[in-house]
Amino acid sequence: MERLQKVIAHAGVASRRAAEKLILAGRVTVNEQVVTELGTKVKNSDQVKVDGVPLRKEAPVYFMLNKPRGVISSVHDEKGRRTVVDLFTEEGVTERIYPIGRLDYDTTGLLLLTNDGELTNQLMHPKFEVDKVYIAKVKGLVTNDALRQLRTGVKIDGRMTAQAKAKVVEVAADKKHSLVKLTIHEGHNHQVKKMLQAVGHPVVKLHREEYAGLTLAGLPSAGQWRELKPVEVKYLR
Ligand code: URA
Repeated sequence: MERLQKVIAHAGVASRRAAEKLILAGRVTVNEQVVTELGTKVKNSDQVKVDGVPLRKEAPVYFMLNKPRGVISSVHDEKGRRTVVDLFTEEGVTERIYPIGRLDYDTTGLLLLTNDGELTNQLMHPKFEVDKVYIAKVKGLVTNDALRQLRTGVKIDGRMTAQAKAKVVEVAADKKHSLVKLTIHEGHNHQVKKMLQAVGHPVVKLHREEYAGLTLAGLPSAGQWRELKPVEVKYLR
């Protein structure tokens, strides 16, 4: 999140002081709404226009990361923890990218990053029902009844989850843990952990295998990343 006048100044439209005047004069819109508040913060994905003209944008870039545990899914962290964007800037990526959605600090797996606000809005919009496939290591032996509940919907934070796919893919040799494959298309905070907790199986490890039909093929280790191929970007659109 950055202050609106800074974003306008960065895009080369005006100095920061002149940008403030444009805002106060009602000549700036954010997502088609006129904004006259100087402190307004905007996200990379917000559409900013001055006199109806969109700010000049960087060429779009698209990356896939196999997120390691212990990094935060944001652009900047107030507590100074390493972010997923740091993994890219440390290797010379200069575009103002951000993650499409979030994985928890301790979750590993597939995360897309981009500077393309339009694609981000599309993938994040609930009506597109983008599938996300997770592998969760959970406590206990998961019964068919628990799987049925996960599939039909469980109550978390006072509401029922949508239908999901759920199956046990492995039972640990100690018979105390199971690996569950869960496919959901919603994206509530800590949703997978809460769903499995709700059926009596706390998550001890969580990994995302797939997002919107893309898999981690070619990125076997946590921390690895690559640019999406043009055909993959086309597929996402
Ligand atoms: N659900 C969770 O609980 N955590 C994640 O990181 C992603 C989905």
